[in-house]
Amino acid sequence: MTVTSHYNVGVLALQGAFIEHIHHFQQCVDDFPQATFTFLEVRTPEQLGSCDALVIPGGESTSISLIAERTGLLTPLFEFVKTGKPIWGTCAGLIFLSKQVINGRQGQQLLGGMDIEVKRNAFGRQLDSFITDLDFSSFVPGCDKFPTVFIRAPVVSQILHGDGDHKEGVIYSKNDYVNDATVEVLHRLDSGLLVAVRQGNKLGTSFHPELSDDVAFHRWFLEEFVVSG
Ligand code: GLN
Repeated sequence: MTVTSHYNVGVLALQGAFIEHIHHFQQCVDDFPQATFTFLEVRTPEQLGSCDALVIPGGESTSISLIAERTGLLTPLFEFVKTGKPIWGTCAGLIFLSKQVINGRQGQQLLGGMDIEVKRNAFGRQLDSFITDLDFSSFVPGCDKFPTVFIRAPVVSQILHGDGDHKEGVIYSKNDYVNDATVEVLHRLDSGLLVAVRQGNKLGTSFHPELSDDVAFHRWFLEEFVVSG
């Protein structure tokens, strides 16, 4: 007897590149004969409550934070993080998912799902946006030449251990969630800059896999975090 499982995968749809994530996921469904999926845009606590996993897209982290606060979604998002369900943050989503941020804007809120410090706009004006082929095959099977899009991208500037000191100019998450898993380095650029990390079932990428033609990253997320997770 074949058992089919159903998963609701939400994409936070307050601002930014959410529709592109949904289109990428839709192209992966045939690779999962044992599973069915609903990919939904999340704007309300009710929609968030129905999700088995959540993607936070790229865009502008300060706007996403502000809209979440104004629409009453910030506290439900804090609670969603605490449920321990899988979450993937891309670019602005990585910033929003982190515990602390440098180069942030005063009042910007963070979900505190990953024990990382993220530096916003880390590549400066010269390298504002760029595309480069990267080899992710050490964690995404067969994905050795992925056209990777960076747009005013952040980097992971520090992996955090414990609470640490509160420093001037750093924005801190107000969520008291504790992620018990270890932060794994998934990918560093040749320059050493850290652009992909995982902590248990939380995933953070500086770049935008939803803006390239390749759906390998999305297939891997569904396989590794949602279906097997
Ligand atoms: N620099 C943006 C921010 O701070 C992120 C850019 C992006 O998501 N492409 O939110």
